[in-house]
Amino acid sequence: MTRRRWIATEFDEETATLSGDQANHLIRVLRAEPGMRADVVAGERVFQAVIEHVAEASVRFRLEQEVARDDSLPVELLLAIFKFDRMEWAIEKAVELGAGTIVPVIARRTEKHLAQAATARVDRWRRIALEAAKQSRSSSVPEIAAPCHLSEALATRRSADRLRIVLSEHEKIMTLTRCIANVKPGQEKLSLATGPEGGWSSEEVALFSESGWTAASLGPRILRAETAAIASLALVSGLLGKPSFR
Ligand code: SAM
Repeated sequence: MTRRRWIATEFDEETATLSGDQANHLIRVLRAEPGMRADVVAGERVFQAVIEHVAEASVRFRLEQEVARDDSLPVELLLAIFKFDRMEWAIEKAVELGAGTIVPVIARRTEKHLAQAATARVDRWRRIALEAAKQSRSSSVPEIAAPCHLSEALATRRSADRLRIVLSEHEKIMTLTRCIANVKPGQEKLSLATGPEGGWSSEEVALFSESGWTAASLGPRILRAETAAIASLALVSGLLGKPSFR
């Protein structure tokens, strides 16, 4: 049976301590007790570990043998905000597929009430992402950035050290698979952007192009926003997940 994996909030060379939601789950649902074993991520390293003390709201592990890391991919997903139930599903699956960073983006066609409520949702999205990372046995803590407007997101991603791809149902020539096949050495970092339910506006399409993003298609069908996000990550993880890209 695979061992559970926890991400420690505090640690030193010999011990790691869980608190907050993870400790709560471990204590009250899994009935933590000294001697139980798990894997624990302690900063940059992952260890086999054994519980040595259970308190009211924290669990301390003794760290034993170090094990290999399995980090998320150098991929960030700019996810235009859409209905929160489906957005949560997309965040969970994106992290399972290896996205290291998710940036919730307010696009021209993001519904107004969702844009207004997004900031208050970030903590929940972070919890969902952390659970998905643990569940998929990633040793990285995924980053869920604060929601921002598309123009701001593009302005801070002008560097050519990363391949930047905007998924567009209007692109008829370039496919995502071809785009990824063109990844050059030293350019393994990747940004992917998927639009809201109403799609990108023509001004946004122009802004992506001026900012050096390549438009790519996922085929002739119009996919829902969450399907496009997951399908694109499944494709890139097939290539970027290879050890030569780590
Ligand atoms: N504007 C479209 C419409 O209503 O006809 C639908 C937009 S789609 C629901 C949401 C987002 O998913 C798009 O902005 C795009 O990023 C992505 N997407 C959907 N289908 C796609 C495809 N076939 N190729 C690439 N991206 C796609």
